[in-house]
Amino acid sequence: MSETVLEVKDLCKYFDVKRAGKGSQKVMAVDGISFEVKKGETFGLVGESGCGKSTLGRTILKIYEPTKGQILFEGNDITNISKKKMLPYRKKLQMIFQDPYASLNPRFTVGEIIEEPMVIHHMYSEEERKKRVQELLEIVGLKPDHIRRYPHEFSGGQRQRIGIARTLALDPDFIVCDEPISALDVSIQAQVINLLEEIQREKQISYLFIAHDLGMVKHISHRIGVMYLGHMVEIGNANDVYKNPLHPYSKALLSAEPIPDPKVAREKKRILLEGEIPSPINPPAGCPFHTRCPYAMEECSTASPASYELEGRKVACFLYSPRYLKQRENLAIEPLLAGR
Ligand code: SF4
Repeated sequence: MSETVLEVKDLCKYFDVKRAGKGSQKVMAVDGISFEVKKGETFGLVGESGCGKSTLGRTILKIYEPTKGQILFEGNDITNISKKKMLPYRKKLQMIFQDPYASLNPRFTVGEIIEEPMVIHHMYSEEERKKRVQELLEIVGLKPDHIRRYPHEFSGGQRQRIGIARTLALDPDFIVCDEPISALDVSIQAQVINLLEEIQREKQISYLFIAHDLGMVKHISHRIGVMYLGHMVEIGNANDVYKNPLHPYSKALLSAEPIPDPKVAREKKRILLEGEIPSPINPPAGCPFHTRCPYAMEECSTASPASYELEGRKVACFLYSPRYLKQRENLAIEPLLAGR
């Protein structure tokens, strides 16, 4: 897993909004994000609702045009290319949506739904397409006779399988999975996750996996990125981030993860953050987390921390800057940072 499929550099997506009496303002939904995804890797994205996870996924796929920054797919810069030049990349960059029912055309049969992307991209002869639809149905665990049925005849889990089959029809290299299981029953969620993992093992597809369920993100992801207010505050190996989150926001977010074992849950220390998430319309200066951070220092409200590299991790917090790391043993915050 060494070949980089996707590289995002300092990516920003701002939306203009008109507010009564305030004129036009900018919503800074994604603000200066950099990371890369390797071939066959699942990169999980976590963070509270509204932190910009879905906007980031959609900007990478150019459903939203980026405001600033760069998107490199398989080494090619696709940031500002025309819609026509983007067409070949559309096949390679796909998305699985949260609501399987809303994303399927109710007037089309399952066969037509899965075939449609291949028709749009002029792929295969009609006979080959029909054969491919049957193959895809089999890959996602649906029956051959399902081809003539309509989406409303299926359960939520089956509909998500239809959505996955349609996504796979174009043989993509990279899929943004935007909350693909949150609309499904818990009993079905594991089946869909297992299916995605199986497909990845076979086809070496890379996933950007966005979900609320932290446990599920940990289960499926090789690496994890933690987002706060449009910024990536920590990136690291999934197990490392879960066992020992470094950024103060990651610590608080993961301390709220539900634990099935009541004894462990009772002993776990939960970090309660004070205050609301600031608005992305008027984000705070300096570190975006300084208004809620229990360790905030004077400089946090005026300067933005860089993303510091530490034992394979990237952490955007002054506490991990070379200057602070040298002083850490003498700082009163050390015991706080050591334990979740
Ligand atoms: Fe907290 Fe400052 Fe680190 Fe931001 S930079 S997370 S405010 S300590």
